[in-house]
Amino acid sequence: MITHSETGTAATHHVLILGAGYAGMAAAIQLAARVRRREDVRVTLVNPQERFTERLRLHMSATGQQVAGMNIPDLLEGTGARFVRGWVTAVDVTAKTVRIDDNRVLHYDTLVYGLGSVTDTAAVPGVEDHAYTLDGAQDAGLLADRLARLGRGTVVVGGSGLTGVESAAEIAERYPELNVVLLGWQEPGAAMSPKPKAYLQATLARLGVQVRSGIEVVKVLPDSVELADGRSIAADVVLWTSGTQVSPLASAAGLTVDERGRVVTDATLRSVSHPDVYAVGDAAAIRQGYGVMHGTCQGGMPTGVHAAVSILRTLNGKRPKPFRFGYYHTPVSLGRHDAVVQFTHPDDSPRRVYLTGRMAARYKETVTASPWPTYGRMKKMPASGAFWPHGGRFTRVRGVR
Ligand SMILES: Cc1cc2nc3c(=O)[nH]c(=O)nc-3n(C[C@H](O)[C@H](O)[C@H](O)COP(=O)(O)OP(=O)(O)OC[C@H]3O[C@@H](n4cnc5c(N)ncnc54)[C@H](O)[C@@H]3O)c2cc1C
Repeated sequence: MITHSETGTAATHHVLILGAGYAGMAAAIQLAARVRRREDVRVTLVNPQERFTERLRLHMSATGQQVAGMNIPDLLEGTGARFVRGWVTAVDVTAKTVRIDDNRVLHYDTLVYGLGSVTDTAAVPGVEDHAYTLDGAQDAGLLADRLARLGRGTVVVGGSGLTGVESAAEIAERYPELNVVLLGWQEPGAAMSPKPKAYLQATLARLGVQVRSGIEVVKVLPDSVELADGRSIAADVVLWTSGTQVSPLASAAGLTVDERGRVVTDATLRSVSHPDVYAVGDAAAIRQGYGVMHGTCQGGMPTGVHAAVSILRTLNGKRPKPFRFGYYHTPVSLGRHDAVVQFTHPDDSPRRVYLTGRMAARYKETVTASPWPTYGRMKKMPASGAFWPHGGRFTRVRGVR
């Protein structure tokens, strides 16, 4: 049932933001701070947990480290945005409603879809049943409990992308008595230039991580992983970090999605099929001159800010501007005292400049901690959130101005 408080009045434009991740949170704060004094716009943010999930620190939580918590209502305080705790179960783009797991129905005039992504647990049999993931605080907590009780044994980290590298390094540093095996098709740091890649691989070796590349895992069993060449590796714990998938809700709602289920947007971040829906962060397929953006926090927060500004421009009778974003770095932690930062061209290809060691570790920590001060500044000064590298010629799409 839709209640009056949920629909607002006919004169109130209701912007409903789904998902309080890095992108949805940025959208909510940016928009709410800009319309704080307006009676005709209302902003609501929906998320299943009241505590903000710091995904960038989940490998730390998974090794039992305490990370400072932040409550979403506290982050929104003073902006006038409303927080609704709930799990979205359906979006109806015709009725312009969203259903929550307690059967509440929320009406929207404009929707911001920011439901993020999770690990792909469907591609390899056994992952769903036998592997740990880093999809939220609860998953990280389960792994932390298991590692703390393990004593000795082998931890296999499946997936040699950056999440796999950061997790393997963190576990090896925290639990030197464990065998940590990092398995994957690509070599760790594959996208980096030769020197930072060599540093990353040497640091993994120093921490005792056994790296096996060119490996395809075909099955995860309770006590081992099976490889495509018929061999198997004994594992007391498997952490799966390979691949991502998005919520099926967008596709089920009839929004145009790409082959991975992400909402396809136009240049201003509106759904190409439903212009009253904006998509941000990992859940969106956003095309730039160099191709479709891949999910990161560095790109996700700007999408949230841009969607908010676009919504406001539309409400004010102006045309929203195209979104442009160029990557600038890939910071990778290697335990708590070491890291590699590969600086990049706007298309995410590596530049020659990089940092390693303690300076890189400090850089990475500054980046990881930066969302809080960014959100805080945006509440007081919304325009401060609108600075990010636009990517120059790399992000120009022919015909879009
Ligand atoms: C261990 C780890 C380390 C990482 N390190 C980096 C890094 O160093 N740099 C970087 O740029 N990126 C990093 N990433 C990737 C980064 O975390 C993501 O790109 C980023 O979180 C995407 O932000 P988002 O807002 O789109 O989605 P998310 O942060 O995933 O947030 C989505 C939100 O939507 C909520 N949600 C989902 N489904 C529903 C539903 N049905 N109903 C209601 N709410 C729902 C979720 O609970 C969540 O709060 C890392 C990821 C991991 C796992």
